[in-house]
Amino acid sequence: MQYYSTNHAVPDVDLAHALLQGQAGDKGLYLPREVPQLSDDLLRRARDLSYPDLATELLMPYSEGVFTRDDLVAICHDAYTYPVPLEQVDGPRHVMRLDQGPTASFKDFAARFMGRSLGKLVRDRGQELLILTATSGDTGSAVAHAFLGVPGIRVLVLFPRTEVSDRQRKQMTTLGDNVATISVEGKFDDCQALVKRAFADPDLAGLNLSSANSINIGRLLPQSVYYVHAASQLADIAGGEEVIFSVPSGNFGDLMGGILAFKGGLPVARFVVATNANDEVPRFVATGEYAKIEPSRVCISNAMNVGHPSNLARLVTLYGGRMDETGKIHEQPDMDAIRRDFFAVSISDEETRETIGQVHRDHGAILEPHGAVGWAGLMRFLADHGEHADTTCISLETAHPAKFPEEVQAITGVDPALPPSLEGLDDGEEQFGSMDVSYDQFKAHLQQEYVA
Ligand SMILES: *Cc1c(COP(=O)(O)O)cnc(C)c1O
Repeated sequence: MQYYSTNHAVPDVDLAHALLQGQAGDKGLYLPREVPQLSDDLLRRARDLSYPDLATELLMPYSEGVFTRDDLVAICHDAYTYPVPLEQVDGPRHVMRLDQGPTASFKDFAARFMGRSLGKLVRDRGQELLILTATSGDTGSAVAHAFLGVPGIRVLVLFPRTEVSDRQRKQMTTLGDNVATISVEGKFDDCQALVKRAFADPDLAGLNLSSANSINIGRLLPQSVYYVHAASQLADIAGGEEVIFSVPSGNFGDLMGGILAFKGGLPVARFVVATNANDEVPRFVATGEYAKIEPSRVCISNAMNVGHPSNLARLVTLYGGRMDETGKIHEQPDMDAIRRDFFAVSISDEETRETIGQVHRDHGAILEPHGAVGWAGLMRFLADHGEHADTTCISLETAHPAKFPEEVQAITGVDPALPPSLEGLDDGEEQFGSMDVSYDQFKAHLQQEYVA
């Protein structure tokens, strides 16, 4: 399988290159040349496969020439050791809980695949890799957990001392092993600037730096698996029965996984695409004109506070258009097809809170703010589309309610129990370095600690 850049200005690469490189040299994003089609046989068998076996089957064609079936079996069985609950909420309407991984957000699905596949690549090449990441909270912990104990790879996370919660910090600083953390006396933007400067510094080229960030194709492919999993468990997909997904979205990486499954032949009637008040994509779908939101709006579903989604160029490309990294549209995509496949809607914080309360009162289910945006979007769609009253609907819950205890408790009166993955965290022993915002100090540290 070959991967091309959405900016079309660099040659195609294989999956190994795309994984190691992240962004293409022309600042575009990689996409597979063809979306592999789900065979009738796999559509029939999907329901009876374990999650890691289904992941292996689905990721095989994408990995052709880079990973063998045995490699993928090992990677997927090591990565997907936790359940993916499908909770019936109201008749045919379900919530898929993607919050059972080690950092209790759906980002574990992608990060754990990336950790193991990059680990395999560096092992085979006899290379060493240093993953350098700046974080304002959740991404750092998902990446750190995913690469923990992977031979040949070390992780260094920079976080702003005063901007991460105690629980978020402990998710990174209690790991040890190959994961190091530095607390920076500055803001998230300062951490990000230090990391970016290190990537561009020729003196550090020998370190083999990688970022494992959210635009990497390696984060999208594994996110297509849970769509097939959920649909196969709840509907007769081999018989062509269509389902509806609702996806709470920020950078649209999660949705891209669903689109890949759909383009591969998964029967989906519609994707509800639900954003918070950062409504640049719903407006784009409505008008065909795109304008980013700067600065992005602050909402309680904080992981979706994105004013210029990094994956939008991929969506535009898959619908026959072209958008560059700045958001400029060079060729308009097929807007009719986009409107046929997606129902895009923006949900306010007020409606998000109301939804958390209502779903708890009426159905006894606990949602956190991101999942509530998805559920509210689904309800808006169904209100307009009576023909789907009996269609199987699956709304994605992207984080565990215990990650947002204040909001959830204030609305429902329920203090959500900590998932096993977060238990014991408060007592863990922390270890981290400290630093001012000084590139010279940072560079000296990298050269001292990481250059062989
Ligand atoms: C990252 C994140 C999202 C948004 O996912 P995208 O792929 O950026 O659209 C939604 N919910 C939670 C909890 C997240 O961490």
